[in-house]
Amino acid sequence: MRKHEWPEEFSKKLRIVIPGHRLLVDELMSRHTTFKIGGPADFLAMPASIAEVAAILDLAKEYKVPVFTFGNGSNLLVLDRGIRGIALKFGKDMGFIKHKGTTIIAGAGSMLASVSKYAADNKFTGMEFAVGIPGSIGGAIFMNAGAYDGEMSCVVSAVSCVCENGNIRRFSKEESKFTYRHSAFQDNGCTICEVELLLEEGDPAAIRSKMAEYIKRRQTKQPVEMPSAGSTFKRPPGYYAGTLIDQAGLKGLTVGGAQVSTKHAGFIVNAGGATANDVLTLIKEVQLRVHDAYGVDLQPEVRILGEA
Ligand SMILES: Cc1cc2nc3c(=O)[nH]c(=O)nc-3n(C[C@H](O)[C@H](O)[C@H](O)COP(=O)(O)OP(=O)(O)OC[C@H]3O[C@@H](n4cnc5c(N)ncnc54)[C@H](O)[C@@H]3O)c2cc1C
Repeated sequence: MRKHEWPEEFSKKLRIVIPGHRLLVDELMSRHTTFKIGGPADFLAMPASIAEVAAILDLAKEYKVPVFTFGNGSNLLVLDRGIRGIALKFGKDMGFIKHKGTTIIAGAGSMLASVSKYAADNKFTGMEFAVGIPGSIGGAIFMNAGAYDGEMSCVVSAVSCVCENGNIRRFSKEESKFTYRHSAFQDNGCTICEVELLLEEGDPAAIRSKMAEYIKRRQTKQPVEMPSAGSTFKRPPGYYAGTLIDQAGLKGLTVGGAQVSTKHAGFIVNAGGATANDVLTLIKEVQLRVHDAYGVDLQPEVRILGEA
């Protein structure tokens, strides 16, 4: 169903709930994903408060309009015909960062790099691992993002959400059920609005040198200069996806504008003008060839959504 098929009354009410400069119509998702791929979202709303999030979700429920929540779009492959309904983007308007003692409280739209730097500025250790992950803290909680010596589950103390019944609920770390690249929020339909991180006091020089080291490692090993959505596949038990793909001789394998990175085989990059369909075809080809060579099934880490 296209945008113009949503009831006019719904569009009018949505414009009341969220001001015009934070509501875009027929907005290309390629402008909001690090892959620079993705067709239009009927509506793209950028809330600025929990109350606004709750009001949008409530209205969407009333009119049965689907809502897809996202952050910096750094783990997304949005398909070429885009998203029907509302793409609810947590960005700078939900990007506050503050602290009380060694607990940092951050809006879901704040970027991991900003939170890591804020922690370093306040001499808190624990968030160094996240400095080079190009996502929002909401997306990082949803994915239980991690790198080097850490992942979000190591530092989170609580997550505040708007749940499907419209209630605001605070989840403890245990209730968030973190496992490898997984959290309860992938199953419970709650929208993450605010995150609390319990850090420790640390040595500022050591914190900064660790952050610099992690950034350098990424720049050397990952194709950070090209559009991508990070590691395409999850780490299969007992293996590294990138190593299997490399050993299968697939570095540089290309479909249209999508390419297995020549720098790091675990990444598919947009080498220029890639469509989502190019990426999907390449993903399937890589899965097939790795399975044929090693009998290992690679599962996408990238979240695939929208209309093909
Ligand atoms: C160059 C590069 C390097 C990367 N390196 C790493 C790495 O080292 N480790 C790692 O784990 N990941 C890595 N990633 C992947 C990605 O950055 C992380 O998964 C990140 O945490 C995603 O955050 P995001 O805001 O971009 O989420 P999005 O891509 O916008 O969304 C990801 C998922 O989270 C959900 N979501 C987002 N925000 C919310 C919210 N507020 N409430 C509910 N659901 C929400 C979305 O629905 C979606 O399913 C990398 C990506 C790139 C491009």
